Amino acid sequence: MKTTGALLREQKAPFEVTELELREPGPDEVLVDIRASGVCASDAHTRTGRIPSPLPAVLGHEGSGVVLRTGANVTHVAPGDHVALSWMPSCDTCRHCRAGRPVLCTAAAPYLLAGTLLDGSTSLRHEGRAVHQYSFLSTFADAAVVPKNSAIKVDPSVPFEVAALIGCAVLTGYGAAVNRAGVTPGSTVLIFGAGGVGLSAIMGARVAGAAQIIVVDPAEHKRAEALGFGATHTLSSDDDVVARVAELSDGFGADFTIDGVGAPGILDTAFRATVKGGTIVCVGMPAPGAQSSITGPALVRDEKIVTGSLYGSSVPQRDVPMIAELYRQGRLPLDRLITQRYRLEQINEAFDDLEAGRLNRGVIVFDSVRADDSRSTNDTHLQGGTHA
Ligand SMILES: [Zn+2]
Ligand SMILES: [Zn+2]
Repeated sequence: MKTTGALLREQKAPFEVTELELREPGPDEVLVDIRASGVCASDAHTRTGRIPSPLPAVLGHEGSGVVLRTGANVTHVAPGDHVALSWMPSCDTCRHCRAGRPVLCTAAAPYLLAGTLLDGSTSLRHEGRAVHQYSFLSTFADAAVVPKNSAIKVDPSVPFEVAALIGCAVLTGYGAAVNRAGVTPGSTVLIFGAGGVGLSAIMGARVAGAAQIIVVDPAEHKRAEALGFGATHTLSSDDDVVARVAELSDGFGADFTIDGVGAPGILDTAFRATVKGGTIVCVGMPAPGAQSSITGPALVRDEKIVTGSLYGSSVPQRDVPMIAELYRQGRLPLDRLITQRYRLEQINEAFDDLEAGRLNRGVIVFDSVRADDSRSTNDTHLQGGTHA
């Protein structure tokens, strides 16, 4: 079938919105009519080359839509279901999957790096040439073939643009706070960065009952946003973060600290600003080769836990519907993350806005163009209305 997608031919090139050929889903795959796709920093890092990924490709890994067709082995979703998409499909059988930690799945990772689906193939072609997948999904197109475990059914009352964000930024930030840090009621939480991931960490910390949520961001407008999401205090990067956090915590430091940025120096500051025995979770991806100056004696004496968190340390098939339910209950203001909506044709503008720091989250929204999908209207993506 034909699909319209944003092709990235080489690093640093503009996206080219063009017609591509999309193959039918295999037995363990699902064809999804894409209705919304978030614009994430990882896509931008791939375009600049900071995150290496094979090109040409259709990027986009934060998507939602409606199931159009399913392969023979797919039983958990059916045509017409609304789905959020996971970029970590996992195999269900390796040691990590069996231990309930599918984001560490060793079976899927090589295919992610190779830019293919789980059978080693790509679903997309352009002018007869294979086009790579991105993070198994390639959601910057109006349809996508994805691994079955990437399709996660969500309640149809959740707007597509919200469901899309749950699949990357929200799960990553919320999961870092709730799953990995294990924020406890009454605690003090320190969060670096008030982008989509940082704001999601704030929401997670709030739901978990944190008493104080201190957010550090260099941009004044992002600090103001953080307060709207539940931060109790904000600090600029020029502040003496360690001293200010100590002041706010009777001299002890934060119980839980989340680095949503990964920039040089933040981990060292985070370590010093965290209470002895506290937990520091690294979420933002540092540049390759980045190192920390945390010393061995400090690790021994202070008993602080320094850990990473990938994709919110989540079980996507469990956590995505749960986060959607918290949104439905009004406990996670996820729609407030969306700063700007774009048509696919405006994708280069969306990336300009992202790189200029103008967005919490930009979302590309799609009208349904599939005759074989029986939805009643063509504008339900804005209200998240149910399909016919
Ligand atoms: Zn992402
Ligand atoms: Zn696995």
